[in-house]
Amino acid sequence: MDSTEARERPTTNGCASCYGTGEIVTETGPVDCPDCMGVGRTPRGEVLEWRLRDVERAHADHQACVTDLRWLIFELRRHRKALVDIFTRCQDLDDAALATELRHLANTALDLYPVERE
Ligand SMILES: [Zn+2]
Repeated sequence: MDSTEARERPTTNGCASCYGTGEIVTETGPVDCPDCMGVGRTPRGEVLEWRLRDVERAHADHQACVTDLRWLIFELRRHRKALVDIFTRCQDLDDAALATELRHLANTALDLYPVERE
């Protein structure tokens, strides 16, 4: 994939659980979507961290999966931190084209900023 193709690829930043509405319907009526906390888009930043903590708490008593879940969340946090570090280090690169492409690729996963179409 070249950088132009990557820039033109649509992002999937609408929440898959509530289809971007921010609400889900329950037996007692509509409530804020627990996956995006009512925002309607893929959780990012602090919302993602809150959601991870909710998932950790919800499964803390499930002995069958708690170790696997903790490992998975640890790996998610570790990989996101690496991408943030790459995104940040791109500001120091002399190669502007490479820096732009790397920032775009990291942003695709982190969803820090909206992607503008050219
Ligand atoms: Zn949602």
